Amino acid sequence: MALGKWKCVLCGDDVIEGQRFFYIPGRGYAHAECVYERLADKGYSREIVALMDANEVLAYAIVRLKEAARIAGKGSVADEITSVRKEVEGLAARLEKVLVDLVGGLGED
Ligand SMILES: [Zn+2]
Repeated sequence: MALGKWKCVLCGDDVIEGQRFFYIPGRGYAHAECVYERLADKGYSREIVALMDANEVLAYAIVRLKEAARIAGKGSVADEITSVRKEVEGLAARLEKVLVDLVGGLGED
């Protein structure tokens, strides 16, 4: 089965299935990196965009590690994968704190 492929509406290059992408309503698909770059151009600080990007990578790792542990079943391998996942969750929390501090809170206070 061929991989899905679309043109990025921001840079014009191919967006290939498996790459991180966004769907922009009314326009089409775009690479996540192109969206972040555009956000930065529109005034979001590059630091905020970088933190959103970094958090997304860690969030994806957490999802995959949960799935990997499920596949491993019960035993020491699954336990080790779960232990690594908890460390990644801690790393994600570190960056989330940096992000929240940087923007002065998320408004729920
Ligand atoms: Zn692009």
